[in-house]
Amino acid sequence: MDLLHWLAPVSCVVCGREGSLVCGACLPQPKWRTHESGTWYAWEFEEVRQVLHALKYQGLKGVSRELVERLLPPQPIEACAGIPTPMLRRWARGYAQGEVIAADGAAAWGSERLTLLRAHRRGSSVGLSRAKRAEEVSGRFTVCRHTTRPVWLIDDVVTTGATLRACEAALRAAGVQVVGKLALAGVRSR
Ligand SMILES: [Zn+2]
Repeated sequence: MDLLHWLAPVSCVVCGREGSLVCGACLPQPKWRTHESGTWYAWEFEEVRQVLHALKYQGLKGVSRELVERLLPPQPIEACAGIPTPMLRRWARGYAQGEVIAADGAAAWGSERLTLLRAHRRGSSVGLSRAKRAEEVSGRFTVCRHTTRPVWLIDDVVTTGATLRACEAALRAAGVQVVGKLALAGVRSR
């Protein structure tokens, strides 16, 4: 138990019950599903909306570990890389949630975590069509390290899948073998 935990008992980000950052009652059983982008995800976004909000916007980095420790990946993951966040946004938040999840996942699943990509700042994609947005997103990532290992890409939420696909394309173009994509939660398109 760490000191902080001892000084201020942790409580559930959803219901406030003491004991853990996400209590068993507030987190449905994960179930692997595949998104139309070919990404595996464990929860429907609506099931974990508050939990992910705490991770992304309330600085509660520990939430990531609570989630990944409840997950057995759909296939063994030898090496994984998180989706990076542009530097400016990372400074504002203090961390990139995709990378935090990849690091916690690697520790929980016995995988190696690799930092392979760098993200660049982007303009607002509000108001862009789906196709335009996908095009805009593809120029946002560059490969900063190469590996010969088969890699899984990790992110928090898969919505259109454009970000994960852009990272996958950048890595493939650089000769990196991407064998899978995984997100904690997914949004189904209707
Ligand atoms: Zn709870």
